[in-house]
Amino acid sequence: MQVNRTKHAPTGGQQGTKRCPKCRTVRPLEDFYMRRGGRPSSYCRPCTRTATKASYARRRRDAATLERMRAVDRTRKRRYRSLRSSGPTGGDAA
Ligand SMILES: [Zn+2]
Repeated sequence: MQVNRTKHAPTGGQQGTKRCPKCRTVRPLEDFYMRRGGRPSSYCRPCTRTATKASYARRRRDAATLERMRAVDRTRKRRYRSLRSSGPTGGDAA
């Protein structure tokens, strides 16, 4: 790894574009998801989406993981519902 002195220059290529190592396409930075800190993710959006979908499908095949994911989903839904019901309009005043 070599250190780049100019902070905002993306490694290799012109500013504003970035090469996705997966599909080997040079794309504008808008085609990359931004991480926290304003740094683009290494793979372009389509590749990230594909990878996410693949890993999701892979994890779902494992029964234990699937159960855990279901539990998380259930908790999230419950919290969402309680948030909505305890809003300024509607819900019982405690
Ligand atoms: Zn890509």
